[in-house]
Amino acid sequence: MKVDIVTIFPTFFDVLDVSLLGKAAATKLVDVAIHDLRDATTDVHKSVDDTPYGGGAGMVMKPEPWGVTLDGLLGDDSILLVPSPAGVVFSQDMARELAAGSHLVFACGRYEGIDSRVVEHYQQTHRVIEVSLGDYVLNGGEVAVLAILEATLRLIPGFVGNPESLVEESHEAGLLEYPSYTKPRSWRGLDVPEVLLGGNHEAIRQWRYERSLERTKRARPDLLED
Ligand code: SAM
Repeated sequence: MKVDIVTIFPTFFDVLDVSLLGKAAATKLVDVAIHDLRDATTDVHKSVDDTPYGGGAGMVMKPEPWGVTLDGLLGDDSILLVPSPAGVVFSQDMARELAAGSHLVFACGRYEGIDSRVVEHYQQTHRVIEVSLGDYVLNGGEVAVLAILEATLRLIPGFVGNPESLVEESHEAGLLEYPSYTKPRSWRGLDVPEVLLGGNHEAIRQWRYERSLERTKRARPDLLED
């Protein structure tokens, strides 16, 4: 998979060299390139923002540098992802869809966001997803891109060492995952549930399913409505 990220803070993505994402890049499962939006500016100050039409606080990202940069990156198979608190909320289903893609392009907004004509323009020729990390406002799209990328890349075959570990996770079957334990058997007066020690696979499966259901009811009852 090829991933292009456009940002005014390229060093934000130095963290991609760490951990699983770094491993994926090293094994060529994914090819990530970071692009500085300011490289597409023409004025001496390399300005990427201006005051909003209609007035109001804050600045809006100008469309021209985005146009120049995205024209050079988007191909026929590209999906353009624009992080925004006003977008559709990112989910495991979306991560699965993106993991099946061949080219993702991320446009990281800052200030009050990107001039709306940028999304409008590329929607005429490409799949464009305005995507939100959740119901809160960040300062920029970079943190959202890191989260979306990590959730997506770990679903690419070969990314996670043991693919079995992906099967029973939260959100895979519409429920949250059951609680997990490891050694020691007893810690600070808290014991590992007896059923997990007995080796009865059917009893363990049933116990885990019930705990999953309980946890989902308690923390995310909205998931059970679906
Ligand atoms: N004025 C915008 C609004 O109210 O919808 C918020 C702009 S926010 C301060 C600046 C940038 O941060 C956005 O363009 C987007 O890239 C990113 N951002 C903020 N919150 C986000 C969220 N919940 N999910 C994804 N991206 C977010």
